Amino acid sequence: MFRHPTAGWIEVICGPMFSGKSEELIRRATRAKIARIGVQIFKPRIDSRYGHDVVVSHSALKVDAVPVADSSELAASLVDGTQVVGIDEAQFFDAGLVEVCERLAHDGLRVIVAGLDLDYLRRPFEPIPTLCGRAEYVTKMLAVCHRCGGPALYTQRLVSSDELVVLGSRGTYEARCRMCYRPGEPEQPPLDI
Ligand code: ADP
Ligand code: MG
Ligand code: ZN
Repeated sequence: MFRHPTAGWIEVICGPMFSGKSEELIRRATRAKIARIGVQIFKPRIDSRYGHDVVVSHSALKVDAVPVADSSELAASLVDGTQVVGIDEAQFFDAGLVEVCERLAHDGLRVIVAGLDLDYLRRPFEPIPTLCGRAEYVTKMLAVCHRCGGPALYTQRLVSSDELVVLGSRGTYEARCRMCYRPGEPEQPPLDI
């Protein structure tokens, strides 16, 4: 049988805000580093909430990251010897990210993509849904519903805005379960938990 010994693959880590996507990406990247495998982590330049050149989880885990403007800058920033590519907040990238990930996987790299699968109105948040279809491995993370403690798969925006992208964290967004999610009520005081 003919084999392709050098093929890589794509892993997607998706779910709502606070579900542990960055934590899981950091965990996988750290294990690769321990194994002395060349790792590069990228993040969109627009997301500078917790520092410019680092991915930080809500639980304060950190890993160095290269901020890039778009998928072509990401592709151009790869260095020789990189075998694992991590991409956080991938929903903020352009549609070209899909083909960049495909090409890297085809060229033998392990590509780990983390991002929101749904926006604050539960609409598919591209390019994550397309990448889920193109990935060998998909991990769907759930958060803890900030209202009731149940399994949260949605991101509730707490402030009034029709913009797709409003950067923020606790106070601006909450993780919500199916029962607690309220799409039509943008202004909701956050619960202090
Ligand atoms: P994401 O990247 O999906 O937004 P992070 O990896 O940054 O998530 O953060 C996950 C961590 O956030 C958890 O391990 C936990 O310590 C903390 N956390 C705070 N609020 C919640 C919540 N409602 N549900 C789950 N984890 C939460
Ligand atoms: Mg994150
Ligand atoms: Zn709930």
